[in-house]
Amino acid sequence: MQRGPIPWPAEVGLVCHYCFKGMHVKVKVSKCSRCHRISYCTTECQNADWESHKVMCKALSSLEKNPFAARKLVSLPPKEPTTNIQQLRKLAAQQVDAYCDYLHGQREIKLSWLQREPRCIVCTRTDMVIRMEAALKGRAAADTTRLIPCPECKLSFCCSRAHWEIADRLHHGPCHDLRDSPSQCYTNKLAHAQSMIAASVPDTSEHLVWIPERVKHKWVSLEGQSWEGEFDDEIRKFSRMPQSDPSTFIMAAISDTLTLPMTILYALSKLSDGDGWTRKQTLIVHIVGASLREFSCSRVFEEILHCTPQVKTLKIIMCGPEAPDRNAHDVEICRDCIKRGRSYVLEFIPEAYHDVVRNQGSDFEHPDLCIGFNSGANHSASLGYTWPATFKLLVERKIPSLITAYGREDAEKDAALLRAAGAALHPALGPVLNPWGSMKAVPSPHSTYGFLVNSGWLAGGFK
Ligand SMILES: [Zn+2]
Ligand SMILES: [Zn+2]
Ligand SMILES: [Zn+2]
Ligand SMILES: [Zn+2]
Ligand SMILES: [Zn+2]
Repeated sequence: MQRGPIPWPAEVGLVCHYCFKGMHVKVKVSKCSRCHRISYCTTECQNADWESHKVMCKALSSLEKNPFAARKLVSLPPKEPTTNIQQLRKLAAQQVDAYCDYLHGQREIKLSWLQREPRCIVCTRTDMVIRMEAALKGRAAADTTRLIPCPECKLSFCCSRAHWEIADRLHHGPCHDLRDSPSQCYTNKLAHAQSMIAASVPDTSEHLVWIPERVKHKWVSLEGQSWEGEFDDEIRKFSRMPQSDPSTFIMAAISDTLTLPMTILYALSKLSDGDGWTRKQTLIVHIVGASLREFSCSRVFEEILHCTPQVKTLKIIMCGPEAPDRNAHDVEICRDCIKRGRSYVLEFIPEAYHDVVRNQGSDFEHPDLCIGFNSGANHSASLGYTWPATFKLLVERKIPSLITAYGREDAEKDAALLRAAGAALHPALGPVLNPWGSMKAVPSPHSTYGFLVNSGWLAGGFK
C-alpha cells in the first residue's frame, strides 16, 4: 500500500502509527512494548506496521540498553529547568547528536524520529532519558513517571508537574516570532489538524496549490494588505463557505504555497522605483537554491500574472543543485490569461547561481528579482552549499534580491551574512516578520519550542 506522509501526532505516539486513529475517534492507543516510542490501536495495526517499524524499534531498544549512551544522555539535561529557548535548542540538538553517535552505521534510521521525540519543554528529558536515569539509580523503569502531555494540545510535554509550572508561560504565552503572536499550544493544535489532513491525502505531494481564477483589473499595492484582505472573499466564493465560518484553516493551507508569488510581488514593489515593473513586457524572476517545494508547486506563480495585468510574459528560472534536469517549458495557464495573449515560461538550471551567471557570461539576462526561499544560509555551509559566494555575486552585480527564512533566529543570522557580503539591507525587507509568509507553522524538530514557517521571516532585501 502506498502510504502518505506520517502525521506528526503519529510520530510522537499520540495516535496509532498505522491507521492514525486515536485523536477524535474514541480509540485507546498503547505504546509499542519494545521501544515505547510510538503507539498502536490494535495488534493488527502493530503487525501490519512491523515491516516498516522494525528497524527503528530495534535501533532504539538497543540504544536504550547501551550503558555508554545512557551515561552520555543522562549527563545532558541541565541541573535546573530553563526557559532560555536558545539553550534548550542547543541541548536538544546535543541530545539528537548523541543518539546519532551511538546509532552510527545503522542505515534507515529516520532522523525525524529522533528530532521529534517528545521531550520536556524546560529540561529536554525524553521518556528514554527518564528510564535511563532510573536504571542508573537501580530503580525499575516502570516506577518512574513519564512525560506529562499538555491536557489541551497533548503535543508538548514536561517531565514533572513542577516543570509544567515553569513551562506554562512559555507554552501558553504569545509567540512573537509568528504573525498574530499565537501560543505554542494554539499552534500545536492547528499543526496537528493540518498534518492529519496532509496524511489523509493519498497522493504524496503535500503541497496544496490554489490561486483565485481571476486577473485583477490593475496592479494594487500590497502595502497594508493581509492574507485575509487579499484572499478571504475569493476563498469563500470558491469553496462556498458562509461568511460566519472562520477561514483560518484553509487560509493557512493555501498560504503555504501562495507565499511564494506573494513574497515575490512584495519584494518587487519594495525594491523597484515606482510601478514601472508592473508594466513590463516580460517580468524575470530567478529563484536561487530552489528546492523540491518550489519545483512541485510551480503553477502557483501564475498569481504574479494575475496581480500584474499589464505584464505579458512571466519568466521564472529556478537554479540550484537540486533542480531537475535543465529544461525550459511553457506552464499551462488559465483561459483568461491565454485570451489576453500572456504566457508563463519556467526554466530549471541544475547549477549553483554563481556558476549560472559565470557560464552565461554576456548572455546573462538581468532579472527583475532574484529570490532565495528559506535559504538556511547560516547553517548550510556543512551541507556543501555556497550561499556566501552567491550573496557576494548578487551584491556585486547589483541584482535586486531577497532572502527569506523559516524563523526569526535564521533571519537574523542570514542578515548578518548578507551584510558581511556587502549588502545594504532595505529596512522593510528584513530581518523582519514577512507579511506574506505562510500562515502554516510546523513545530520545529530538534527543539522543545519554536516553529518553522515557510518564508515566515525576511532575512534581507537589497539591490
Ligand atoms: Zn491503528
Ligand atoms: Zn517499537
Ligand atoms: Zn523537565
Ligand atoms: Zn498545549
Ligand atoms: Zn491566469
